[in-house]
Amino acid sequence: MSVSLSTPASIVTPAPGAERGSAPAAPLLPGAWLGMLGGGQLGRMFCFAAQAMGYRVAVLDPDPSSPAGTVADRHIRAAYDDESGLTELSRLCAAISTEFENVPAASLELLAHSSFVAPSARCVAIAQDRAVEKQFLVECGVPVAPHVVIESSAALAALDDATLDTVLPGILKTARLGYDGKGQIRVANANEVRLAHAEMGGVACVLEKRLALAYEVSALVARGADGRSAVYPLAENVHHHGILAETTVPSPRASAAIVAQAQSAAQAIAAQMHYVGVLCVEFFVLEDGTLVANEMAPRPHNSGHYTIDACATSQFEQQVRAMTGLPLGDTRQHSPAVMLNVLGDIWFQNDVPVTPPWHDVVALPPARLHLYAKEEARRGRKMGHITLAAATPEAAREAARECQRLLRIEFDA
Ligand code: ATP
Ligand code: MG
Repeated sequence: MSVSLSTPASIVTPAPGAERGSAPAAPLLPGAWLGMLGGGQLGRMFCFAAQAMGYRVAVLDPDPSSPAGTVADRHIRAAYDDESGLTELSRLCAAISTEFENVPAASLELLAHSSFVAPSARCVAIAQDRAVEKQFLVECGVPVAPHVVIESSAALAALDDATLDTVLPGILKTARLGYDGKGQIRVANANEVRLAHAEMGGVACVLEKRLALAYEVSALVARGADGRSAVYPLAENVHHHGILAETTVPSPRASAAIVAQAQSAAQAIAAQMHYVGVLCVEFFVLEDGTLVANEMAPRPHNSGHYTIDACATSQFEQQVRAMTGLPLGDTRQHSPAVMLNVLGDIWFQNDVPVTPPWHDVVALPPARLHLYAKEEARRGRKMGHITLAAATPEAAREAARECQRLLRIEFDA
């Protein structure tokens, strides 16, 4: 069964303590049920944080063995647009959050009839669409990469080469995230743009100028319904084949000015959206020192996983606090940290399945191992992460290099 926007609100019994769509008048205290749309690793770490504080969690995800579904107090096995599954979640939970941005906006709107949904459908919708997102960032006064929006094949046909040339060489990206997992093609000239767009099936895209990046950073902020926000130290990210490989916090390269600029941009973006929850904004730092926003995630972010082991309050606990109306926690970082992502690739050596040497990894004193209990290791699949939290940035970095060597994780640190 699919959700339609015309679904009558009366099919969902309001959960106690929740006004229609708005934040609960009083905080939802431990013992209450919290809802999570999505059963991936972000949902799993949310469950751990919520359960540690005495909340019960219901996860909605169709996969019977999803990382979060298997640790939740209740797993509602249903698709993200399944009306009866959503109704069950809403009946049980006064507050509901999401762990990935591809949840249909209509589902969030249905839930908002009787539960507090944080972040709201509107915030998620902005982050779901690259074209809308870029326009919104610009409206917030935050620079983005030069780009051209290509709505359709007909719209592309109407664009002349000179217009396309202003953003070439570039990257053609599908406007909607998660389109078959392959949403980006590098293009050098107008002809390649047309070929790439046809290859993407003519869907709405953004053609973005390829910029000379010095490095990449991300700003993580939590914001409550009362408008208070708390920002984390700036994280520096290294990607390999387009996937986050490593995060170092605090950012070794960012100047105090860059840190301040990125943090205040993230806070301004959150305030402008009336955002409730945890928001991450990814930035490029260009070779001339300019800060350019890349995209945002309306949820805890991979680059914020280090907060579990290195900060007073983790990003997942902030998600719990924001959605329940509790005060936000202290974002202070108590240990310099490096986070290494663990992808499925390391379960294979020359195509032969192997067991990674976890014993040697956890023998490193700064290493904290987090595995997501996914049933099958696949190349490029996020299976877990390791945080190296140490007394000094150098010690954290050295432990990360040792860990990388032990696990044969390939990327240029
Ligand atoms: P995510 O997994 O974060 O959703 P994504 O598929 O949405 O990734 P982007 O964040 O847009 O993709 O890009 C992935 C990486 O590709 C960036 O972190 C950056 O390293 C590189 N990249 C993207 N856009 C540009 C650009 N305009 N110029 C240079 N490099 C870029
Ligand atoms: Mg990205």
